[in-house]
Amino acid sequence: MMDFLEDQLESLKKAGLYRSLRSLESPQSAITIINGRKVVQLSSNNYLGLAYHPRLNAAAQEAIEKYGTGAGASRLICGNLELNTVLEHSLARLKKKEDALLFSTGYMANCGVLSALVGEGDVIFSDEFNHASIIDGCRMSRAEVKVYPHKDMSALEKLLKESQHHPHRLIVTDGIFSMDGDIAPLPHVVPLAQKYGCMVMVDDAHATGVLGEQGGGTGEYFDLEDEIDISMGTLGKALGGFGAFVAGSHQLKEFLINRARSFIFTTALPPAVIASGIAALELLEEEPEIRMKLWENVAFFRKGIKTLGFTTGESETQIIPLIVGDPALTMQMGELLFEEGVFVQGIRPPAVPRGSSRLRITLMATHTQGQLEFALRALEKVGRKLHLVKDSRG
Ligand SMILES: *Cc1c(COP(=O)(O)O)cnc(C)c1O
Repeated sequence: MMDFLEDQLESLKKAGLYRSLRSLESPQSAITIINGRKVVQLSSNNYLGLAYHPRLNAAAQEAIEKYGTGAGASRLICGNLELNTVLEHSLARLKKKEDALLFSTGYMANCGVLSALVGEGDVIFSDEFNHASIIDGCRMSRAEVKVYPHKDMSALEKLLKESQHHPHRLIVTDGIFSMDGDIAPLPHVVPLAQKYGCMVMVDDAHATGVLGEQGGGTGEYFDLEDEIDISMGTLGKALGGFGAFVAGSHQLKEFLINRARSFIFTTALPPAVIASGIAALELLEEEPEIRMKLWENVAFFRKGIKTLGFTTGESETQIIPLIVGDPALTMQMGELLFEEGVFVQGIRPPAVPRGSSRLRITLMATHTQGQLEFALRALEKVGRKLHLVKDSRG
């Protein structure tokens, strides 16, 4: 009865699209141990190095001492530990919003928010490169979904024009696109939304803690916080912990508490996770130099990789795709790099469009210049071997 599993796995393998898990045997740091090997980590979303930071570790331990390991219930039943409110207020302040609501994960936040805010008869406008959790949220909502070509504002306007009869309309976009590292054109999205009476939702999973003067994300970066109606972010990436949130008006929060099924029907976050989030936001405020160091590393590495002649798309941030194209070749490059002591995960369809398989390189504030130079040398060596960069002798 379950023969189809083997068939499908076999065809994934043939297409170079088979995935398997690797084991991480150290904290998520600039140098990690993967499958027993010490490597420079170039694939982590732990952009600020907070996932193994003494202050977050201590906060988590203290919370365990005081409150234990589990919340024991959903927020609406009896799992609403007081820590939730503290973290929500800090997140609202970071996002310059009235309030915020925690969700267990970013995936659940997107599914919950989209399916609560719009429904049958409504319409969502979604960038084609939006994260899978947005795509799934759109499907769950049962609204009509109009996907516009990546960052194509005239295509978006055309869709907006022909969809004015829908009662509720919402534009949703990643802030920093997770696989390309470019930034959503909010200064164009926002006026369009206003012209056509649309809600704006931004998924700042990769921008929270990273972009903007205080790490507030793309809203702060473009000075458009007020214009973003629904500002979603996560705690599992730059903030070094786990969980997610939606920041917006008091009313939005109240509405989501009553309507977002992925908020209502799930256990509240554990105390240690919430406490580490609170500590991360304190650090973000007190030590802006961590963020500065990340941007220094980004500038240094981007210059290096451009000089080597790789195709890196339109990245503007800590996420730098090295586009290879073919999925099997991408994975081979990853393996060769691993042998050289550098870990970069290959990303293939369906996570990225066909023909754009890539190594998704990400930088951390905790990388040293020496580690980045080491990685660049390995990239050069492997790139030449696979004829992905020109042999520029002479
Ligand atoms: C990682 C990510 C999510 C999901 O967040 P989790 O907390 O890991 O579930 C959502 N949106 C984007 C753009 C992401 O990169």
